[in-house]
Amino acid sequence: MTDHPTRVPADLPGSIQHYIGGELVDSADGGTFDVLDPVTDEVYAKAAAGRAADVDRAVAAARAAFTDGPWPRMLPRERSRILHRVADIVESRDARLAELESFDSGLPITQALGQARRAAENFRFFADLVVAQTDDAFKVPGRQLNYVNRKPIGVAGLITPWNTPFMLESWKLGPALATGNTVVLKPAEFTPLSASLWAGIFAEAGLPQGVFNLVNGLGEEAGDALVKHPDVPLISFTGESRTGETIFANAAPHLKGLSMELGGKSPAVVFADADLDAAIDATIFGVFSLNGERCTAGSRILVERAVYDEFVERYAAQARRVVVGLPHDPATEVGALVHPEHHAKVMSYIEIGKSEGRLVAGGGRPEGFPAGNYVAPTVFADVPPSARIFQEEIFGPVVAITPFDTDEEALALANGVRYGLAAYVWTNDLRRAHTFSQAIEAGMVWLNSNNVRDLRTPFGGVKASGLGHEGGYRSIDFYTHQQAVHVTL
Ligand code: NAD
Repeated sequence: MTDHPTRVPADLPGSIQHYIGGELVDSADGGTFDVLDPVTDEVYAKAAAGRAADVDRAVAAARAAFTDGPWPRMLPRERSRILHRVADIVESRDARLAELESFDSGLPITQALGQARRAAENFRFFADLVVAQTDDAFKVPGRQLNYVNRKPIGVAGLITPWNTPFMLESWKLGPALATGNTVVLKPAEFTPLSASLWAGIFAEAGLPQGVFNLVNGLGEEAGDALVKHPDVPLISFTGESRTGETIFANAAPHLKGLSMELGGKSPAVVFADADLDAAIDATIFGVFSLNGERCTAGSRILVERAVYDEFVERYAAQARRVVVGLPHDPATEVGALVHPEHHAKVMSYIEIGKSEGRLVAGGGRPEGFPAGNYVAPTVFADVPPSARIFQEEIFGPVVAITPFDTDEEALALANGVRYGLAAYVWTNDLRRAHTFSQAIEAGMVWLNSNNVRDLRTPFGGVKASGLGHEGGYRSIDFYTHQQAVHVTL
């Protein structure tokens, strides 16, 4: 591994603060936590460690901006203009954003750039949608008129994970702000760098002070305080299913509105009649892009027996060709995993996999990367459904391949896990494609398709993969009250 002179971005901050009521501030007790460079695992910055007192301050600022400030009372068109400016600024800084995101998270730079652009698109989309929004109105001639008052709810608590952090923050910030709420964002502690840019972006776009607040910190501390805060009626959470369970329980005494985007173990089902070239390309991308740290990763590939041996051989060969490299190198396809703790978890699953399946590619650290959080793209074949690497979310560049003989068996395998986020189906039989998709327990299905999503469509999982849907007007519904007004004529 040779270091490149531009690997470390210029002007990297040595400390990362909270943003509360329009000011960058430290924790009240001065506490910090370490932020690591995933390539060297060295500490490159200290971030303010938010405690309950800091969350209190942020919620108070957001609440004041909600009850007394202009934001909830502005016309949708006025809010929309500011949010379009946010999108413009994000777009104009996409290269810098990608550089910082890639450095902090270990994501390949080309993929981080795509995520920065998607973040701008999220703002643009919700800025447009909130202007186009229509609501129900009904008339019973001569008797009654019924219509809907749509109202922002208050302070939204937004808790986000470390995979594609900036983009996932935008996915919540866009609709929460477009609908007139004020927010407290608690970004993931592994990757606070890109989130620290929001303060400057919002201030420059003209967002009133106190509307956007950010508290860094550990989930069990800052995240927990936000979930339990009585003045935060909404929590939108993306993260692990187990964390989702904890948040669900902690929010229960307050009867909060909850949106949960959780983990996955999504199947890619390849039938013998599929376009095998396309299926192999897409299933390689589906689990190795974004370092495999992707909630919708197709991490289990189920292949019909007639093409199984050919598929495994070609797939393993292609996995070996995936380029592992320094995150900032444009040629890199798999970078460094986010953090040594996560790296250790993924490596431990690889060791487990060696006794559960047949290792056909990867299997540990890639050659030439003795340090940092590197994992070679790893493929296990002949993995039985009882295996832990078949059942549990690994969240890294590791895939399990399993054969099947009949459609019924494929469906049982696809549905035989606790998760139900995404599914990918590859077949040229039209009827099978649609009936199989209908029967799969997944919030989203891609048929003969890469993971490409129109922002108007519902996003969400079933079973342990989530609660509720966001995407398009469903996000608008989550972040608003719909008050029905009935008028006797
Ligand atoms: P995580 O659950 O460990 O952490 C997510 C966030 O929750 C972080 O900000 C963390 O600090 C916070 N948190 C942790 N404990 C908390 C608590 N007790 N109370 C309040 N907040 C708490 O998840 P992660 O490891 O950061 O992210 C990876 C997970 O996210 C994977 O399971 C992945 O599938 C999932 N994910 C899901 C989607 C989706 O849309 N379904 C998208 C991306 C990631």
